[in-house]
Amino acid sequence: MNDLTQCVLTPEVPTKGFDPLGVGVHRASTIVFKDAAAYASRGERGHEGYSYGLYGTPTTRTLEAKLTSLENGFWSFLTPSGQSANALAVMPFLAAGDHILIADTAYPPMRDLAETDLRRLGVDIEFFDPQSPEDVAAKMRTSTKIVWCESPGSTTMEILDLPKIASIAHGYGALVGVDNTWATPLNFKPLEHGADIVTEALTKFVSGHSDVLMGSITIKDEALLKPIRSLIGRMGIGVSPDDASLVLRGFETLGVRLRHSERVGLDFARKIERHPLVQQVLHPALETFPGHALWKRDFLGSSGVFSIVFTQEASAHISAALDTLKVFAIGASWGGTRSLAAPMSIDGFRSATAWYGPDVILRLSIGLEDEEELWADVERLLADLDTRSQTSAQDASLAAVHKG
Ligand SMILES: *Cc1c(COP(=O)(O)O)cnc(C)c1O
Repeated sequence: MNDLTQCVLTPEVPTKGFDPLGVGVHRASTIVFKDAAAYASRGERGHEGYSYGLYGTPTTRTLEAKLTSLENGFWSFLTPSGQSANALAVMPFLAAGDHILIADTAYPPMRDLAETDLRRLGVDIEFFDPQSPEDVAAKMRTSTKIVWCESPGSTTMEILDLPKIASIAHGYGALVGVDNTWATPLNFKPLEHGADIVTEALTKFVSGHSDVLMGSITIKDEALLKPIRSLIGRMGIGVSPDDASLVLRGFETLGVRLRHSERVGLDFARKIERHPLVQQVLHPALETFPGHALWKRDFLGSSGVFSIVFTQEASAHISAALDTLKVFAIGASWGGTRSLAAPMSIDGFRSATAWYGPDVILRLSIGLEDEEELWADVERLLADLDTRSQTSAQDASLAAVHKG
């Protein structure tokens, strides 16, 4: 073979005896076929075969297989982010005139997708009270195609009675989808509690290092495979093997990271709960949390993400007090090694229920730093909030005296 041809062709090298623990990064767009007949019949290779890099490589299939097994599903698809997984989990099943019911506490971009795109396409959208299966029953229609759940709810952590909601939805022939990002498949297995579809933002705890975006959709049975797979193909959506390899790397330590975050997070939640400026700590593993019994019945553990509802006076100072933090970083996309704090606004993202607390609450994600240093940071934040609240109360009473 001439040099120029040799430059292009890949020589065969032995792979026998090369048995690494990790999976290789298989980069490919083109897949070649051993003969013309294999090329002509490539469409018959199905979801398990390889025909084009966009539809899967051994690297992405390895990650899909790991998810399918942990979720106890039939098949998994990878998408470029958690939100794209949510969107692609519902889009194949909706047409003009159909109805979708969405938990009022769903991840806000999911609300936005419904209110903007699904509505524009003629889908009837409606939100339900996540704590009321009765509300789901009252809002079901014969045209309802999907009941979209997230448990616990984004930021405010409401636990859904998934088995009950699923049995109501299935009575109308509707599918049940669950965004399981908070729990990960280690702490909750929605397909075993009535869901038909489960999505994960692998971006968060599963990849675990705040350096990659990815989502997954796992389906319970084969009937759901074709609608999702073909829409993903028509939309030209796939993930890179390099990113999948990062997620696979993170996945190996998910168990220990999650257990650590769970332990430290719950300890902090219990201590924070006793502070006079705190109205409530929203953490499903706290015995005082309204959804605790359901969480205990269905979940296998908790994760290190929870929220703090401060008193009305203190909540006005959350943003200013964040600047006292030395170890926690200020940021939203949780589940990494670095602990995060983020003020979250709730009022604008509820329509079927009324949020009872102050609009802004504080969400914490517990990472892997030294827990005493982290706790010192929390104490600094609470002390700063205390000072600011007292100063503003004094100012207010002084102003009242001057007026009087
Ligand atoms: C972050 C998050 C998502 C979206 O994940 P991205 O990868 O950032 O798109 C979806 N659902 C929940 C519950 C999340 O917290």
